Amino acid sequence: MAGEAQADCLFCKIIAGEVPATVVRETDTTYAFRDINPQAPTHILVIPKVHYRDAATLAAVEPQITADLLREAGEVAADEKLESYRLVFNTGSGAGQTVFHAHAHILGGRGMQWPPG
Ligand code: 5GP
Ligand code: ZN
Repeated sequence: MAGEAQADCLFCKIIAGEVPATVVRETDTTYAFRDINPQAPTHILVIPKVHYRDAATLAAVEPQITADLLREAGEVAADEKLESYRLVFNTGSGAGQTVFHAHAHILGGRGMQWPPG
């Protein structure tokens, strides 16, 4: 069923505690933890506890949880004292998505270039 945990999904395993992660915040609907391969001094992933392959699919099916995710991203940034940060949803392998469980990257603590690579 849509949204159910997937046995072969790394982020579902992190939520279940089967793969360790450095958790920074948790709510009823979201989980935030540090990226294992940080691309900035602060690099945190915020994910919904329900499984959807990408942010657009999550938003189409679960608008309230999508709002929770964005609010949590702001709370994480505030906790980390980030005045500026980048919020990224890689969508599709061509854009760099490697884990097909919707997630926001919060990147901060250094200057950012535009356009991104
Ligand atoms: P994507 O490339 O799909 O946008 O982002 C996936 C992110 O998950 C990458 O930044 C990658 O470093 C991170 N990642 C992959 N495996 C693990 C893991 O086992 N633990 C944590 N904390 N992050 C991971
Ligand atoms: Zn998943």
